[in-house]
Amino acid sequence: MLLFAAMLLLPPDVAQRLVGGALSDGLAYARLAELSDTIGPRLSGSAGAEAAVKWALQRLKDDGLAAHLEKVMVPHWVRGEERGEILSPAAHPLFLTALGGSVGTPQGGISGEVIEARSLPEIAALGERARGKIIFLNHTMGQKGGYGDFVGLRTHGPAEAGRVGASAVLLRSLATGSLRSPHTGATNYEAAGPKIPGAAVSVEDAELIHRLLQRGPVKVRLTLGCHSLPDVESANVVGEVRGRETPDEVVLLGAHLDSWDLATGATDDGAGVVIVMEAARLVAREHPRRTVRAVLYMNEENGLAGGKGYAAAHQSELARHVAALEADSGAGRPIGVSVQAGEGGAAQLRPWLGALESLGLAEAADGDAGGADISPLEPFSVPMIAVQQDTSHYFETHHSAADTLDKVQPEALAKTAAAVAVVAYALAEMPQPLPRPPPKAPRESREPPKPAAH
Ligand SMILES: [Zn+2]
Repeated sequence: MLLFAAMLLLPPDVAQRLVGGALSDGLAYARLAELSDTIGPRLSGSAGAEAAVKWALQRLKDDGLAAHLEKVMVPHWVRGEERGEILSPAAHPLFLTALGGSVGTPQGGISGEVIEARSLPEIAALGERARGKIIFLNHTMGQKGGYGDFVGLRTHGPAEAGRVGASAVLLRSLATGSLRSPHTGATNYEAAGPKIPGAAVSVEDAELIHRLLQRGPVKVRLTLGCHSLPDVESANVVGEVRGRETPDEVVLLGAHLDSWDLATGATDDGAGVVIVMEAARLVAREHPRRTVRAVLYMNEENGLAGGKGYAAAHQSELARHVAALEADSGAGRPIGVSVQAGEGGAAQLRPWLGALESLGLAEAADGDAGGADISPLEPFSVPMIAVQQDTSHYFETHHSAADTLDKVQPEALAKTAAAVAVVAYALAEMPQPLPRPPPKAPRESREPPKPAAH
């Protein structure tokens, strides 16, 4: 019955052009190679980020979309030199990298004794014992729990450690696998609070520090040259497929153009950028009822200026944003569709998605969906849709020097682009938009994310 309905709702020739185009044209991977290899790292404020903005604008125009830039001011943090070593009980190099936004160390670095903590409350409980020490933040990501369980250690650890008088923080990298590469990511200070340097050490170095601490005192030194420069003008890149019947109703497809500076961000989030571009290109040829808008955000990694700026600039339109989808989970194959809408959302979308069966996806289900850049739309009751991907290898290279093109399998990338194209077309063509969910409070005022299933 459902299958029959699926055939009726998504015409087979449309499904064939969307899925077939993504799988056979090879454009997503070709563009990812261009973005990763010829533009390179794209941290906000960098020359690479600006080159990526120009590139994306041109490629959207090449695809026949109406494309323009929307200005945002972004932070400009630069890494500088960084090194570290264990001084005693024996000399070892430390493979470390500064957390994004961290202050640097004084000339000559910071040395001191290490003290271990495993949670934000444990930092607070150290009290006076932490004064002048370097706090080592250990955790079990990879063995027990996922990114969402531990990312708070990175975003708030140095701020908390500064409050108890520590001199610096070494965080065990947030990673599920490691060949001794450290993984960066943003840390946030409180405006009025102390600002102490924070760096991530590789998983192997974290294990070593932990073992040495079982034997007795451990002394380390770290030198970080990172610093912040004045904010820079940058832009979100927006491309539109104008709806043929109700152009003021918008299906938003998002991804972020910026990446960390350690590598080319092939999976975070170059993959998402080309998935969204490819979906928009394929949907444009089908002239759907509603507008499909690709938004390639700037500054997801260290500030969310693009996500917040878009929501502010388009506030008057958000009641007519009928759905938002963000591709920011790497380049893995698609495994399912999650629908965060009003009651009956997944049931309404499901009959349109029969074509996804051939791509190996599970049926659409109601559940959590969203993404950092589109999270500012949640208070406006915008339904959130996610094409879930296989992320089993994503956190091995995420935010590290190993996030490079060779980690991407062209076929998996093309399948995800196909799935996003089908979902985007369905959302833009179904006669009635999805029911809207109740408004959510802005993310900053919400509890940290629930533990991920993996
Ligand atoms: Zn990302």
